[in-house]
This record gives sequence, C-alpha cells and structure tokens, in this order.
Amino acid sequence: MEKHAGMDTPLSALLRLTTKQRQTLLKLGILTTEDLLRYFPHRYETPAPLTPIAELAKGARATMRGRISAIKTEKTWRKKLPVTRARLQDHTGAIMLIWFHQPYVGRMLRDGAVYTVSGAIGVRNKTLYCSNPVLQHQYASARGAENVSETNPVPIYPETKGLSSRWFYFAVRKVLAALPDTAFVDPIPEDIRSRYRLPALRQAFFVIHMPHSATRAAEAARKRFAFEEIFYIQLGRMQLRRMRDEQETFALQKNPEALRAFVSSLPFPLTSAQERAILHIQADLTKPRPMSRLLEGDVGSGKTVVALAAAHSAIQQGYQVAYMAPTEVLARQHFATISALFRPYRIPVGLITSSECKKFPAKSGAGSTHISKAQLLKWTEEHAINFVVGTHALIQENVRFKRLALVVIDEQHRFGVNQRFSLTQKAAGRMPHLLSMTATPIPRTLALTIYGDLDLTLLDELPPERKRTITEIVPPHQREKAYQRMREELAAGRQAYVICPRILQGKLGEDLLALAAKNVTDERERLQRDVFPNWRVGMLHGNMRPKEKEEVMDAFYSGKTHVLVATSVIEVGVDVPNATVIVIEGADRFGLAQLHQLRGRVARSSFTPYCFVFTESQSAAAMQRLRAFRNAENGFALAEYDLELRGPGELSGAKQWGISDLGMEALKNIKMVEAARLEARRLLEEDPTLAQHSKLCERATLASMLHFE
Ligand code: ADP
Ligand code: MG
Repeated sequence: MEKHAGMDTPLSALLRLTTKQRQTLLKLGILTTEDLLRYFPHRYETPAPLTPIAELAKGARATMRGRISAIKTEKTWRKKLPVTRARLQDHTGAIMLIWFHQPYVGRMLRDGAVYTVSGAIGVRNKTLYCSNPVLQHQYASARGAENVSETNPVPIYPETKGLSSRWFYFAVRKVLAALPDTAFVDPIPEDIRSRYRLPALRQAFFVIHMPHSATRAAEAARKRFAFEEIFYIQLGRMQLRRMRDEQETFALQKNPEALRAFVSSLPFPLTSAQERAILHIQADLTKPRPMSRLLEGDVGSGKTVVALAAAHSAIQQGYQVAYMAPTEVLARQHFATISALFRPYRIPVGLITSSECKKFPAKSGAGSTHISKAQLLKWTEEHAINFVVGTHALIQENVRFKRLALVVIDEQHRFGVNQRFSLTQKAAGRMPHLLSMTATPIPRTLALTIYGDLDLTLLDELPPERKRTITEIVPPHQREKAYQRMREELAAGRQAYVICPRILQGKLGEDLLALAAKNVTDERERLQRDVFPNWRVGMLHGNMRPKEKEEVMDAFYSGKTHVLVATSVIEVGVDVPNATVIVIEGADRFGLAQLHQLRGRVARSSFTPYCFVFTESQSAAAMQRLRAFRNAENGFALAEYDLELRGPGELSGAKQWGISDLGMEALKNIKMVEAARLEARRLLEEDPTLAQHSKLCERATLASMLHFE
C-alpha cells in the first residue's frame, strides 16, 4: 500500500489516527498527504549544542543525547514521593537521570530508545546526575530519526487541540518517508523555478519540514510556497480575463456631447481624477471587447458619479445597466440618487432587494412606487426598465435582461468572484462591460494579485473643500469631553454616528446578530437619556426588518433624527453629507481598513469632520495601531502600514482574501509579485489553455474559485 502512496492518498491510509485526531485534522482541512505536507512549521527551534556525557560538569545546564536503560520507578520511604531513575548512555559515558514526583515519566520512557534531554548537572558521592531533566526528543520510534544530527533546527508546528507540534513532527516524517519520489509532481515549470532559484516541490517539502542546517534552505522553501500561491491566483485570474476578452460585447458609439450634457447637469464640477476616470471608461466602452475595469478610490472620492456617467452613455444608446450594491441600505440610497439624477432623461429605474421591488417614476409621474417582483422581472426582461439597482437579489436566476451592456459592482470586495461572474452572464448572448468599484484600501501587491483580471483606474483626489477629518483617540476618562464636542456640532445643525463595538464572538449558541442588536438598543437608550437628552437618537442594526431600516435611514437623511447609533452596517457607502461626527466604540476591535471606511462616513461635505475613537484597551500594540490610524492621510498608506505592522495575516481581514499567511508574506515583496505576474502572462501566451500544464491548470482554476469567499 505504502508503495503507491501519492499526494492525494488519505492520511488515514498511512497513519493510525484516533477519531478525535481525524476530526481535528478535518477541521484544519487536512485529509491527504499533501494537505499534511502543506501544514508548515511556523518557526524552528535551534536545539542547544550537545555535550558528551564524559565532559559534563557540575552546576552547568547541559543537553545530552543517549540511549536510555535501567528505568525504575519507586516511592521514597519517608515522603512517599514517586521517584523515577534511568541511565543515559552515549559513546563517551553514562549519567543517572532522576525525576521526582513525575510518575508518568516512568511510564513514558522506552527502554533502549534514544533521547535528547536537558537539565542541570549535580554531583553526589562523586557520581554525576541530572535531576528533573526535560525530555526533548525521542528518536528511535520514528523512521528517519537517525538522519537528525545535532545541529538540525527542530520545526515547531501550530498546535491544535489534540494535535501537538510533536505529533505533526512525527506524522510529517512518516509521510515523507512513505512517499516515493514520483509522487512529487511539481506544477511549477522547471524554467520558472530555475529563474527564481526556487527549490523543486519534493526538495521544498523536505527542507521546510526537516531543515538540515540553519534556516537558509527553509527560507528558500518558504519562498517557493509563497511564490506558488500568488502565482496560482494570478494565473487563475488571467485565465478568467482571457475568457472575458474573447467574448463579444455591445460596443457603444462615441458621443462626447451627450456625455458633456450629463456632466454639466451634475450639481458640482468634477474633480480632474473623476474626469480622467470617466474618459478611460468611455474609451473602454466603445471597444468591441468587454471592459474589465476596477475603479479604486478612497471613501468619498466620488466613485458613484463616475459609474453613473458610464451608465448614462449606455442607457442613452438604448442599452440596460445593472448596478449591484452589498447592502439594502446602500442599494436604496443609490436608487434614490439615480432616480433623481436621471429624472430629466425620463429613464425608468428599478430597485430589487430580497424584501422589496420599486420603480421610478411611478405611474402618476411623481416619486417612486412599490411594485411586485414579478412585475419588475417582466419589465426588466422586456427592457421597459433601463436601469436596475439591487443587492445580491440581482443575481437570482429569474432576473433576465434584454440588452444588458454594463454591469456596475459597488464595494466589489463584498462580493465573490462567482457573484461577479453570475451578474455578467445576464446579457442575452453577449458579455456586458464590467465596472467594479472599491474603496477598500489594500496594498498594491495585494491588488495586483487578487485583481489581476482587472484594469485599474485610481481616483486619487478628493472633491475640493473636503476638510481633513480630525481624529482623536479617547480613553474612558475623556469621553465626556468628546460628547461635549458632539453636542456643539449638533447645536450647529450637524449630525452624528455612534458605532457600537464589533462583537467578535459570543457564548455557544448565542446569536451574534441579536447580541449586536441588544448592544445598539442599550446604547441608544443610554445616549438618549444621559448624553443627548435634547436631541433625537435613532438606531440601526442588522436584526431590523428592511422596512424599519428604511424608515430609520429616511429619518436620518432628512434630519429628523440627529444621532444614529449603529453597528458597522453603515460602514459601506452610506452618504449623509450633514453628518460630521462619528464615534467608534471599542475601536481596537476593528481592522484598520474598516476604521478608515467608517471614518469616511463623515468626510463628505465642506464642514470639518470629527472621528472619536473610543477604546478601553491598554495594549501597546492596539494603541500603536490606533495612532497609525489617527495619523494616516489616506487609506492606501494605511493599508501598506497594516501589511508591515501587523503581519499580513490580519490585514483588513486578510482571511477574507483567501490567502494564507505564507502567501501574504509574499505580498510584502513587490518583486516577487511582479515576477509571478510576468511568468503567468508569459505562460498563458505560450499555452493559452494550459493544455501542456494540466496540474498547473488545475491549481490555477482552484485558486481562482476559492479566493473571495
Ligand atoms: P464614494 O467614492 O465613497 O462612493 P460617493 O460617490 O458616495 O463617494 O461621493 C461622496 C459624496 O461626494 C457624495 O455626496 C457626492 O455627491 C459628492 N461628490 C462626488 N463628486 C463630487 C465633486 N466632484 N465635488 C463635490 N462633491 C462631490
Ligand atoms: Mg460608494
């Protein structure tokens, strides 16, 4: 059986596993030999140098290795303490080991096995002994152990309940010994490996798990696995892009007059970044191949009108547009903005969410009206509605368009690649243009990797007259001062948000949404009663019915409520220019990117905005992060900083990008990311379908499916 072991052999075929171990492995996603080999040590320990037993000296601490014999456990007659003795012998001599009060040592020791032990050396009756030595390793029971020489670093694996680092250590060795050379089929072509001096798969596995000398070789192996991960993602993304590029789309006519007319109908002049972006997009839209563009701009940089300019062109020329947003609140807000802006053109606009459908204008001509879902679907399919705004509900199979030429995805990082893909499949027979938008500031290397299938346009300029947000970190004893400042703002006619802390986990069986709702409810009551008795305080949380949410938002938009207490649901996109203060409670529980998004809620007008960051944390690291947040000018700088400071694993919920910690390490290295990109492109030029690289193709496809949700 072992002879035929391969990378996808189930572990249970090679290792004796208890049910518990099996379950834990399953949780870690470890089923096959390869899964186990990809469970990498997170660090290495360099063992202390060994001292030959003949050279031991009294009083020193020493590490020795030898064979154990004469194990004996007995109770001392006076105190009834269990005492275990054993003899340790190497090729220079022997010493007595003695353990007090550790009866299990006696049961664990194996007569005749080789151990590494360390402890302080004592002398009694001219005989050396070592009391309560620490057992470091037992070798004789593991195959391959004889290869371990004194200087080899010991890999330390992340431990999980029931599976110790030591368990992984031996399991990995067993698996490596059982796999024949032919089992290690390397998906990465050799020429690429040699260009970047990346070890081959087999060697990399051996070296990362059993490094022979210092860590240089293990570094090379880590580099290989890091490269591999981002290379697969990029390759997958580029394949996706190639597929899109081969499709036909609706090419728009150039019509600069219509565009100019639309732009001049806006209530403000565009920033030059917005103008540039609009022109980029117009150029894309007139090509016969579908646009694949990402518009990346800090919160408040005005992405919406850029998208609407494109939408306007498409609709003017007789096509339909779909606009998807991640939350109902946001979809409704867009629906309102779009209806207002497009009113002069008499363009019918629809809204679809899982709880309601609306149409603008209403039959009566004034305002919008609720319609049935069936009605909306029918009108969309018949092209009686030109512009459909919605949440995920847009993706549902029964939503069909007649002439869908443009798909806009707002806050695209909230959607999976598959969701993006489904929406672009809605145009009968043709591939619509795609405009994705995001304000999530991510480092450039991450963007190059996960947005590898998109052309990038940056909106790197905020509308004029925006004041920089004054951010203050507020410890508990200064809360009252911050509240006073808020009351002054309210008295001046402004509005405020109070964001309740993120609930990271509850007790078993507790509903986090309900917990958050309770938090918000309690806080609203407290603020209304004790802090803002003269103002109206509203609240918004995820457990409310859509109708309630709408009423709450309407009341806040129209200024009927002055303070809005909310969970981070308002994090994305909500646009109330009159709100100029935001309080973030428990700020240390938010990621930097999320904090930045929240702060972006108040920088939307010419008034000076304030962000009060409440924290009770005493931790130096948390304070350092919050200070970085306070000082950061823009989100991208903050994201780069987050990558440096916190280690990639925590970056704006890095897990959300589906990249491992090792892959994230690669993202600190722009050269490596660019190399992966170059190689992916070169490979696809030579072998567009990856027919010559089947294993690689498998990996790339998997990577592009797995990433994002
Ligand atoms: P985001 O990029 O975060 O999606 P929005 O599109 O919501 O930003 O725009 C933020 C606010 O700025 C909106 O109220 C919008 O009307 C306004 N705005 C957009 N562009 C400009 C501009 N060029 N000048 C002034 N205000 C603008
Ligand atoms: Mg937006």
